Amino acid sequence: MLLPPSIRVIVRGWLNCNQILLLAPGENVLVDSGYSTHRESTLERIAGPEGLDGEPLERLINTHCHSDHMGGNAAIAAAHGCRVTIPAGEVKHVEPWTPQSVWMKQFDQRADPFRFDDTIAAGEAFDAAGFEWQAHSAPGHDMDALIFFEPEQRILISGDALWESGMGFVWPEEGANPFIEAAREALATIERLDPAVIVPGHGAPFADARASIATVRSRLDAFEKDPRRNARHVAKVMFVFALLDRQSMAVADVPAYVGRVACYRQLSERFLKLDDGALAEWLLADLARAGAITIRDGIARPNMAA
Ligand SMILES: [Zn+2]
Repeated sequence: MLLPPSIRVIVRGWLNCNQILLLAPGENVLVDSGYSTHRESTLERIAGPEGLDGEPLERLINTHCHSDHMGGNAAIAAAHGCRVTIPAGEVKHVEPWTPQSVWMKQFDQRADPFRFDDTIAAGEAFDAAGFEWQAHSAPGHDMDALIFFEPEQRILISGDALWESGMGFVWPEEGANPFIEAAREALATIERLDPAVIVPGHGAPFADARASIATVRSRLDAFEKDPRRNARHVAKVMFVFALLDRQSMAVADVPAYVGRVACYRQLSERFLKLDDGALAEWLLADLARAGAITIRDGIARPNMAA
């Protein structure tokens, strides 16, 4: 994928988001910081030859404040003394910092508490990598998320609003779903911007925005028609995320786990109608069948990169 040399993308997996470096002497900017448990490898990689290559980091900007995008903020700010900028709409989630800032109870996620220096809102812009980047709102997966667009080369940093073959999960609702409606608006914004290259929050940069938008639109349509299908998708995504964090979980422990973490009970009570044991059994069987996890000797392990 042809990106200017001043833009470097460290492609991670599905626990950590990508780290995107926008380089200019004295004004190096990093977009998004990964998950907290991988803070050491994130620090190493952004400092190394595929990242800053020994140069200082002046600023960290988040597309949104989910744990896989802001989890490394504190470690990176401490290591580099950089300015931290978050989307204006995210302030209410991280100030004051509570367990719900990272959805600890609801989704069993973690992030190191961090302090931010300023905010950026849709309609504003920032200079980085020798270009001016416009912030646009991209609600849906996170109602307060931003995407960053560079209009000269038409490069879009899309966060979790659009990946090559999907997007961040959208919470299920019966009937009219405001999150799906919002996600459609974000896709319309991206379509209007007409990016030549998309640097997503997860996965490698890609060029065919239209194909990706079409894929996601049809998935959103299916989720709207069948919220139970969406609920199954969200449960699987969250469980794989937890496995990527832990790297393994005893099959015997999964019923208690889904009983303890609130999102599974919420999804089950409203949509899936399964008790903890049946939910655990279905999750494991479905993910194993799809090749997302491997179960051996009573232990479930993820097959994808963290
Ligand atoms: Zn993400």
